[in-house]
Amino acid sequence: MTHLAYSEPAPRIFHGAKGDWEVVIGMEVHAQVASRSKLFSGAATAFGAEPNTQVSLLDAAMPGMLPVLNGFCVEQAVRTGLGLKARINLFSQFDRKNYFYPDLPQGYQISQLYHPLVGEGEVIVDLGPGVARRVRIERIHLEQDAGKSIHDMDPDLSFVDLNRTGVALMEIVSRPDLRSPEEAGEYVRKLRQILRYLGTCDGNMQEGSLRADVNVSVRPAGSDRFGTRCEIKNLNSIRFIQQAIEHEARRQIAILEDGGQVVQETRLFDPGRGETRSMRSKEEAQDYRYFPDPDLLPLQLTEDYVARIRASLPELPDEKKARFVREYGVTEYDASVLTAEVEAADFFEAVARGRDGKQAANWVINELFGRLNKEGLEITQSPVSAGQLGGILDLIARGDISGKIAKELFEIVWTEGGEPEAIVEARGMRQVTDSAAIEQAVDAVLAANPDKVEQAKAKPSMAGWFVGQVMKATGGKANPQAVNALVRARLGLPG
Ligand code: ADP
Ligand code: MG
Repeated sequence: MTHLAYSEPAPRIFHGAKGDWEVVIGMEVHAQVASRSKLFSGAATAFGAEPNTQVSLLDAAMPGMLPVLNGFCVEQAVRTGLGLKARINLFSQFDRKNYFYPDLPQGYQISQLYHPLVGEGEVIVDLGPGVARRVRIERIHLEQDAGKSIHDMDPDLSFVDLNRTGVALMEIVSRPDLRSPEEAGEYVRKLRQILRYLGTCDGNMQEGSLRADVNVSVRPAGSDRFGTRCEIKNLNSIRFIQQAIEHEARRQIAILEDGGQVVQETRLFDPGRGETRSMRSKEEAQDYRYFPDPDLLPLQLTEDYVARIRASLPELPDEKKARFVREYGVTEYDASVLTAEVEAADFFEAVARGRDGKQAANWVINELFGRLNKEGLEITQSPVSAGQLGGILDLIARGDISGKIAKELFEIVWTEGGEPEAIVEARGMRQVTDSAAIEQAVDAVLAANPDKVEQAKAKPSMAGWFVGQVMKATGGKANPQAVNALVRARLGLPG
């Protein structure tokens, strides 16, 4: 079983003034390859460097400089393709996309139009337990990023930072299979998760490592024809993607209900206003005069090369999630939470292996993740290690401590560190299972509350109150099952 069974949801319905509509969305995601050097030059790619300090002569388009393809970037794109269950094209080719812009000194971007490196694949977008949308991937190609124009440093001048020029991007193009802003957001989340599992892109949207162009059209609910689409460029957060789609769908519905027609165009999202506005229409679209780059040979891969990369793929989120449900008996929801990040999944497995999986999941999700969230820490910064948490669970399993004491113990390990078992020993936290001690505590509570004893004989549900009192009297250290059994026996209630 590679992934859990799911069914696809109905499209979300948008209620217009005159009728019902649905939205159709296709995405072009630009993912920066996690490579220390650029696609065709040896210049560095580190984020946040001083402007124009990571620019080779090639990036600056000095005459006579020739591109040299970075094999590591090719490998990452192939890895990504395989991770998206896609066909790898053994023959691919780089084309020049010609246009003028100050942040593009070459006067063209090297991309792959006619023969992309990766063909058709898929992403299963999780939308809740048992519900998912299968989104087909049309292609993935490698291309160069452009530089950055800076307009806000001087009232009269614009500046150009070429550090980003030539950095390797994977453009991941989906088919128009998404049917709501929420699905689009989840699609980006899932794609980002897979890329991070593969290690081919760090997925950092704030730093621009992952950006999306979103294509949106609308059609009457139930129609099987596509409407005219608009493309919203360069969205760098999931919230903006969702807001832009929501606004764009409503804008198009209003035009159509008014008897007008949607004009195919490129639009920009203004986060301040939550609106999209026109950037250029199809009529103004430039002719990029694409042609194969004469400085680069076609890229020819062998079956063997692809097979070697395939063999090195890690277990991916869908498979890991299905395995967690199967091997550890956790719910699909919990498995999603546990597999969101590979480091967290590894942590969970280190705790759960050889122990009660459901209990391990509860502790990792509720106690550990809850606490990490509160403190704003990543799993890799957790003060409690998997070994320590496992130690706490072993103490519970052996009946040495109750669940309540375990939480106190967790707190001690979190703040002070140390071996759980040694702490329990040193601080006398061990649960009282010794029946003489428990008997004594139970009898003391019964003797102190004769009126309640009378009531409980008529109303058995009151037994719980006595158990609570005994637990309190023993500082939570009495074994709750033993206390419960004894209380019921003393009250003459059935066990
Ligand atoms: P182009 O070659 O003009 O870029 P493509 O056919 O490659 O156009 O599509 C680009 C993106 O637009 C793809 O992600 C695709 O899924 C999406 N798309 C195509 N048609 C529609 C449509 N009618 N509504 C929404 N998205 C669409
Ligand atoms: Mg396109």
